[in-house]
Amino acid sequence: MSQTIPRTLPTAKLLNELQTFGARVVDPKAGAASRLGGAGPSDHKALTIDGVTIMVPVHTKPASSSPYLVELPDAQGASRISRNGIDMGAITFPGRPRFYDLTTDDGIPYSKIAVLHGADVLATTVLQSCVRYQSREKTCQFCAIGESLAAGSTIERKTPAHLAAVAKAAVELDGVKHMVMTTGTPPGKDRGASILAESAAAVKAAVALPIQAQCEPPDDDAWFARLRQSGVDTLGMHLEAVTPEVRARIMPGKAQVPLERYFSAFAAAVPVFGRGQVSTYILAGLGDTADAILEMSASLIALGVYPFVVPFVPISGTPLAGHPSPTADFMHGILAPLADMLVQAGMSAASVKAGCAKCGACSSLSTYEQRRHA
Ligand code: SF4
Repeated sequence: MSQTIPRTLPTAKLLNELQTFGARVVDPKAGAASRLGGAGPSDHKALTIDGVTIMVPVHTKPASSSPYLVELPDAQGASRISRNGIDMGAITFPGRPRFYDLTTDDGIPYSKIAVLHGADVLATTVLQSCVRYQSREKTCQFCAIGESLAAGSTIERKTPAHLAAVAKAAVELDGVKHMVMTTGTPPGKDRGASILAESAAAVKAAVALPIQAQCEPPDDDAWFARLRQSGVDTLGMHLEAVTPEVRARIMPGKAQVPLERYFSAFAAAVPVFGRGQVSTYILAGLGDTADAILEMSASLIALGVYPFVVPFVPISGTPLAGHPSPTADFMHGILAPLADMLVQAGMSAASVKAGCAKCGACSSLSTYEQRRHA
């Protein structure tokens, strides 16, 4: 007979372990469909534990030997989760969104235009191709943007009209609360800011939905005001790795944009979007030390930029498919002091208007913040 560990809140350690080990799921079809390939969390499944929804790797290589096992859902939709045979409580899977059943007038399933992330986030990759994805020398080694396109689970270019229709339906049918618009980097100097601006304007004309846009720093800082005027509420410009050696090794193409340009872009964007409304995504576990990530985070916070640090998860079909995830202890060593720094600076995931930092499903950082506040 299994032993049960009583809990009232998910511990940060439990969340860190689930996000780094992943989980074996007896019925991978339970809840909303998981996604293979693509930008953002791929090979993952959303699950909710004690009211917190997180993205947990289920289709990655390490997940197949995870100590965590999720049983079949019962009649109420709850599944027992155990760690090495010890019962850890119950989880649920967010259900399949209703907007997935719709198609556009030109016959494209809405699920190929945008997908549900976490509990209440609509996520889309406006342009599912990238100037840096053409050659393996330039490709970001962790990225799978071409995989879901090759698999036929998405389309290459989502038009503003597509996005407006899907966003409206996702709000009305499924109650989504905010939207993430990312993009592969097109060849132009604006780095995708132009298509993000036209997409945001179309969505905002259709429905009141807070939007985060994500792109590389564009050539001209004037794009920040244009994005804001188009209806973009928050902006993500993602460093991914923080030290020059790791940047050059993991993302040889994107590393050609120097850290200095990221910092000048952050300095120009924060006055436009507001303190804490500009963020960056940092993947821990790719070679940067905890100290390097914390040092970079301190510089970002001083500028008013929210550093969203997430554990690296190896995605099938990428050059890093066999690269290990960081340990839960490594994540704890970063996220605990980082949450202290954010709280001291008066910045929090809760006050971000839209996007990954607000969603928080890919990192337990916001759980650390809440505990620090408590
Ligand atoms: S944190 Fe960002 S990438 Fe992760 S599930 Fe939420 S919206 Fe998607």
